[in-house]
Amino acid sequence: MLWTVTSILLFGFCSVQWCYMVKDYKYLFLDMDAFFASIEQQENKKWRHHPVAIVHHAGPSGSIIAQSYEAKRAGIYTGQRVGEAKKSLPCLAIVSSRPSLYAHYHRRIKHILDYFSPWVTPYSIDEFSIVLAPQERNASRAKSIAHNIKKDIARELGECITGSIGVASNTFLAKIASKIKKPNGFFIIKNSVSREIFANIKDITFLSGINKATALQLATFGLKTPLDMWSASAEKLRAAMGQSGERWYLNLHGYDTKKIHEPTKSVGHSRVLAPEHRNYKSAREALVELSINVARRLRASSLKAQKIEVSAKSSILSPENTTKRYHAYKTVSPTNNQVAITTIALALFKKYPHSNPYHIAITTSNLTHCRSSTQLSLIGDNKQYIIDKVVDSVNKKFGIDALGVYNFPHKKSTIKNPYTTGGSNN
Ligand SMILES: [Mg+2]
Repeated sequence: MLWTVTSILLFGFCSVQWCYMVKDYKYLFLDMDAFFASIEQQENKKWRHHPVAIVHHAGPSGSIIAQSYEAKRAGIYTGQRVGEAKKSLPCLAIVSSRPSLYAHYHRRIKHILDYFSPWVTPYSIDEFSIVLAPQERNASRAKSIAHNIKKDIARELGECITGSIGVASNTFLAKIASKIKKPNGFFIIKNSVSREIFANIKDITFLSGINKATALQLATFGLKTPLDMWSASAEKLRAAMGQSGERWYLNLHGYDTKKIHEPTKSVGHSRVLAPEHRNYKSAREALVELSINVARRLRASSLKAQKIEVSAKSSILSPENTTKRYHAYKTVSPTNNQVAITTIALALFKKYPHSNPYHIAITTSNLTHCRSSTQLSLIGDNKQYIIDKVVDSVNKKFGIDALGVYNFPHKKSTIKNPYTTGGSNN
């Protein structure tokens, strides 16, 4: 009996340790270099080797959202006002962002990576994590795979499209490794030398997940550099960062904490409105576009939402410059139908009590999986389902914004929504 209990305890302990074992070279992380600007340089020969800044709004008060390496070297930075940047660098090309083009390049890169591994996870529009197969987990194989990925991307997408690749025992360290030799770099972080690597990085915001505000908070606990973070105990990190402190400790020391098949909990989109569009009408129009995107992403993942939330922020002009926040939600029968989601979102936004919204967002949650074979019987409006599927297949082939369906009521709602079940809440 004692032996059995001891065995169970030992087995349990070993299982936990096995989950978190450090295995060098397990993850390869690709971070594209100056992705948006590189795409624009690829698409327009006149901008190659030229400083380029990408903006949502090209007016002097617009902010730079991305810039080419030529612009970075000239001191142009993300968040800088267009007017200020042009003043400091008059030859800077200001280019309006083209999200659907960037998404198209993202899909092409994902397609290339799928050839190298069945375990490719997009982390953002220009970041991908790949789990290497057990026989590939050594320096020479990892380096060769990285080289071939870069070669294929350059051949398929063009000479301006480059990426930096990092390899490590977990995604957190692999991502840091990918940033160490930018652009077009390759770097491996082996766990046995990670202390030296962290000692050589001086800026704590180099670590993903630490922004300037977090850095200030961490400094009050004596955590001022990446090495301070690496050297801290799990208890100290927990005291400074709350529950996520332990995960930070494991990540910093190379343990693989990634949950395979972690389910998606929510799908949402948000937008900051340009100063000239900070009014109810423009926010409403933005909400329609965001809702359509959310519905499309739900369908692409075979998911349906049971909760739809709309939030907005507006600045109230007062001596304190107060931000007024609005949040409303509705529980619904499972849906990924764009008319249903948009209609509900607009109804929730109709109660918006403030003026001049500058930020609008929609989030869908309480997600359930749906099987396409049963979808027709689950959706009352089969016509809309068929329209959605046609739109999805056209957009998949010709680009994300190739075809849209905007059959939403702009004034008085005439569509009786069959999907809502609960009462609305604010
Ligand atoms: Mg990048």
